Amino acid sequence: MAHTQRALLAALLLLAGGCGRHAEPARDPMRTAAGAYERAWPVMGTMLHVTVWDEEESEAAVIAQAVRAEVALLDSLLSNYRDDSDVSRVNAAAGSGAWVAVSPMTVEALGAALAFAEATGGAFDPTVGPVVDVWGFYREEGAMPSASAIDSARALTGWQLVEMDRSPPRVRLPRAGMRLDFGAIGKGFAVSRTLEVARDRGAERIMVDVGGNIGVSGSAPGGGDWRLGLRHPRLPELPFAIIDVARGALATSGDYERYFEHGGVRYAHIIDPRTGWPVQGVASVSVLAPDGTASDGLSTSLFVLGVERGCAFIEALPGVAAVWVRAPEQPNDPVRVVVGGPEAGRVELLAEADVRRCGDAAR
Ligand code: FAD
Ligand code: MG
Repeated sequence: MAHTQRALLAALLLLAGGCGRHAEPARDPMRTAAGAYERAWPVMGTMLHVTVWDEEESEAAVIAQAVRAEVALLDSLLSNYRDDSDVSRVNAAAGSGAWVAVSPMTVEALGAALAFAEATGGAFDPTVGPVVDVWGFYREEGAMPSASAIDSARALTGWQLVEMDRSPPRVRLPRAGMRLDFGAIGKGFAVSRTLEVARDRGAERIMVDVGGNIGVSGSAPGGGDWRLGLRHPRLPELPFAIIDVARGALATSGDYERYFEHGGVRYAHIIDPRTGWPVQGVASVSVLAPDGTASDGLSTSLFVLGVERGCAFIEALPGVAAVWVRAPEQPNDPVRVVVGGPEAGRVELLAEADVRRCGDAAR
């Protein structure tokens, strides 16, 4: 096994917080099941939905509030959209030579992000922010940048340059203009953390949805596995696949959340750090993994790695299944799907599609 994969496996094991499981924005019927206490709040530029199954509504309410507080705490630490977050303070000090004291939680999240960067050979890069910025994806008004603007932004990236100490927890970026971006892993990290918090408070069955990263703890209502839906990247109202989840977490990265079109080509917010250009050819990647951080990190990683390299990458990762949907070349092209990973057997396609398995000769 390659050194990089060993590093990721170690990261997965370290991060696995138990039985978090999550799905993409599919409307989950479990959420309306009898006896469920349900709350929703805006957070991290999206919505947090919490559903707690508990006989005592007052206890369920306390657990839901604890989940909300944890996500709010992580938002206050990891957000690029708040000037006072740990991440924004680190970014503002980039190039000054000064270390920035941060929360142990920020260091934990950054450690996970850097582990993904190492394991993927930089396909996942939490320092890709200057490039995301130059394409306009922070402002939700993307526009085609010049080649020189892309090059200048790329010169400010490089996960190997990040300096981080765990004790005392502190971070330093060596070049002015560098920035950390937790967009690809922060919501999944929040799913992992909130399930831990909920379990610590006695929750036996809970579902947490942070902007489409859905984690569950305990067996599904009625017992047994959870059946989590994946939404179709082009027809959001259509659940196009179901993943049967006994244990783990599910996340999706897609080209349909933040994108713009130029000359008939779709440019979306996931960047190939090697080129500085948005990844082409993939519409979405959904990943089942042992916990929220792992599935969020992997969904973005496998989006960048693509089918061939991605299949090889997850082949030996325990608890992992991935579903790639290729971007259609023409609007009426058949949906082309590739399913892989040791847990691939848990994926059930509902919509008509050309389905391949990782390892099939002709892809
Ligand atoms: P994912 O695939 O999980 O992540 C894609 C994102 O990761 C991109 O948008 C980019 O930021 C980054 N990225 C791109 N390429 C790479 C790469 N190769 N390696 C690593 N990272 C990459 N949005 C708002 O509009 N307002 C807010 O106030 C706001 N607050 C947020 C606070 C937090 C703590 C977090 C985690 C996110 C917040 N967001 C906010 C959303 C954020 O900007 C992203 O849009 C979102 O996280 C993308 O998630 P995703 O699941 O769609 O895609
Ligand atoms: Mg992600």
